[in-house]
Amino acid sequence: MIVVFAVLIALFAAPAAQAQSGGAAAPTAQGFTASPSTVTEGAAVTFAFNATPKALVRVDLIAPGKPAVRARLGRVNATGTLKATWTATLTPGRYTARLVVTVRGSKQYFRQTLTVAPKAAPASAPAPPATLTATGSKTFPVQGPFTFGGDGSKFGVGRTGHSHQGQDLAAAEGTPVVSPIAGSVYHVAYQAKGAGYYVVIAGVDGRHYVFMHLQAGSTVVAKGATIAAGQRLANVGNTGGSDGPHLHFEIWVNGWWATKASAPIDPLPELQAWAAAK
Ligand SMILES: [Zn+2]
Repeated sequence: MIVVFAVLIALFAAPAAQAQSGGAAAPTAQGFTASPSTVTEGAAVTFAFNATPKALVRVDLIAPGKPAVRARLGRVNATGTLKATWTATLTPGRYTARLVVTVRGSKQYFRQTLTVAPKAAPASAPAPPATLTATGSKTFPVQGPFTFGGDGSKFGVGRTGHSHQGQDLAAAEGTPVVSPIAGSVYHVAYQAKGAGYYVVIAGVDGRHYVFMHLQAGSTVVAKGATIAAGQRLANVGNTGGSDGPHLHFEIWVNGWWATKASAPIDPLPELQAWAAAK
């Protein structure tokens, strides 16, 4: 993953109203904000806070399973409001924006949440047909022998720093992965420390379907393409943060990381129904 940060503006305002004299001033910062709190991939976000004089400040952007991104804001030389605007290309996700204020080697931390939403809107996705129900029979995403695995494969189980947002389907590397539903390709990307090669489908039912750890070089669909139910997307692989060949499968309502209302649901009941209907 390539992360690009470019400082656009660093604005110091409001001269010292009550400059603290020397001595043992503890690092302080108030009113730390990240706005907008949901930013589109590649758009600008502004961090603002009231800073302590002569403090070294930075913002770390942290998300489970993703490498942390450090944004250095420089040294604050006057009391007042510091605003720094950044243009970020981050993989979509919910981040903690952690402001770190350092005064004489002593650190203090302030946190805000920052959601990075995918840039592309599923504008080309047709409206869901009224007859399609959430649990209607669909094509099973793994076209070959598979297992649902044990409890550790289930939705909601603990993972380092977060809970498991999908269902793992163990299958041999190279087994075809197909879309359970017609729709369009919403996102195609690679994340070395997390998802590996992955694809997100915007289904005609309005939900998003996520396929992770795909085999390198196996993805045969491009972002924006219209796809049919049962169409091959890629192969089962073992890329990214994966410890054995499997498909990590997610279903999201209200879009994949699109808004605060976005959330993954447990896909297991539907997967079981689709498997039984084969
Ligand atoms: Zn998984």
